[in-house]
Amino acid sequence: MLTAVQLPEPTELILNTEPATGKALPPVPVADAREVKEAVDAARRAQPAWEALGFARRRDLLLRFQKELAKAKDEVADLLVRETGKPRLEAFTTEIFTIADLTGYYARRAEEMLNDEHIPLRLFPHKKSLLRYSPRGVIGVISPWNFPFAMPMGDVIMALAAGNAVVLKPSEFTPLIALKARELFDRAGFPADLFRVVIGKGAAGAALIEWADMIVFTGSVPTGRKIAVACAQRLIPCVLELGGKDPAVVLKDADLDRAARTIAWGAFANSGQICASVERVYVEREVAEPFQQKVLEFAKTLRQGDPGSGDVDLGAMVTQPQLEKVTAQVAQARAAGAKVLLGGTPLPGPGRFYPPTILTEVHPAMDLMREETFGPVMPITVVSSEDEAVRLANDSPFGLSAYVFGRRAHAERVADRLMAGTVVVNEVLYTHGMPETPWGGIKSSGLGQVHGLHGLKDLSIERHINSERFRLPAFWLFPYTGAWLRRVRAALGWLFG
Ligand code: NAD
Repeated sequence: MLTAVQLPEPTELILNTEPATGKALPPVPVADAREVKEAVDAARRAQPAWEALGFARRRDLLLRFQKELAKAKDEVADLLVRETGKPRLEAFTTEIFTIADLTGYYARRAEEMLNDEHIPLRLFPHKKSLLRYSPRGVIGVISPWNFPFAMPMGDVIMALAAGNAVVLKPSEFTPLIALKARELFDRAGFPADLFRVVIGKGAAGAALIEWADMIVFTGSVPTGRKIAVACAQRLIPCVLELGGKDPAVVLKDADLDRAARTIAWGAFANSGQICASVERVYVEREVAEPFQQKVLEFAKTLRQGDPGSGDVDLGAMVTQPQLEKVTAQVAQARAAGAKVLLGGTPLPGPGRFYPPTILTEVHPAMDLMREETFGPVMPITVVSSEDEAVRLANDSPFGLSAYVFGRRAHAERVADRLMAGTVVVNEVLYTHGMPETPWGGIKSSGLGQVHGLHGLKDLSIERHINSERFRLPAFWLFPYTGAWLRRVRAALGWLFG
């Protein structure tokens, strides 16, 4: 008699290619919903012992991770270059260095930052109230491909420092670097299940939301909306770090050499694949000509090519769909009358390279000026006043970062009028590398913050604990009497009348 043979389900594989060469990267199997649940369950079992270790022993382990990362810096940088096509120096500065620094900061500071907080009570001096911060449990981190090490690992380290376990679902375009991060935790001697990585596409992220206690999401606005809805269904909190269309305003008293070099970096670093890239420049008419000239001359000196070399400024675009999106936006703007001063078409393969591109005569209604581009593209608009610059800069559904260049006091006044989560004077982007300062967008750029005091507190449950210093009668209890009514009425008159 024949018996039916149970064949294993074919495993779905993620197959990516190196952005700079087109060579195949190692395939990675996708986790199904059951495996995602198993990872969360295992992390949940590991969390209480981690919490019970206390801040001091958690600090020691986190500092061991920092050491392992410093030891493995070249290994991590090599993989980042292969998997993302970003220049080796950027792999060091914006990914490895920032995470090594952030780890030390939160390893040493988390205890003090999450200390009980006393709330002074004005009308009840005999009572005492404090806020106590405890871990939430398992934090689900869902991350993008543009900084595949720095984005998730900042959230992972902060969540661990606060006593949580973590399950990370990295982008399907950059799974290998997440697996390498996982390896570094093993080398540092972390409990095996405290930090788990699940590889997959949107479905794996959706499965993670089903089981985690909180989600920290970094990615696009459309996905962010879905995440917010899914978290609302389960009534779990989420932090959303979404896209941007960040403006840079160049005032007529700006140091133009500094503005040109800094804005070029803000627009072209990581081939423009940065949430807070400069994607719109508004320059006052009086200095428009020299600014344009300087930025153009400087951009022409930038070197693009093999990201593994220490001597290139721009590497490749991480994904093919992103390269196509940038190409289409620029072509559409050109067809609608924009003037391309530099670049404007992708470079021939192998590899996915888009050159530094500068456009003028752009119109606020163009997709290039309204939607996130996420490529090395700088559209410049000449404005006739500071007020016009501020109005156009704020006329966007996004509000991640904004930048203003000018004499310091003047630029600070203009900064105050720019509506974004982070506004920076005479610099761009770099504050994400400072773990002390908050990072978060307003409007469609996100909800909540990562980094900084509030970012850390959000990864904790905040409980209000109320007790007494000494006992006094509680006038609000039964039985209600006319005498108490008279006293309360009189008190209302003295206090607020
Ligand atoms: P994306 O939204 O396409 O994907 C982000 C992550 O969400 C990926 O891991 C993806 O697999 C996962 N995902 C997709 N659908 C999901 C679903 N239904 N449920 C759960 N998870 C799901 O974004 P991307 O293309 O990877 O990243 C680029 C975007 O990220 C840009 O918009 C950029 O501005 C933004 N970003 C923002 C910040 C910030 O700090 N604000 C930082 C980096 C990148």
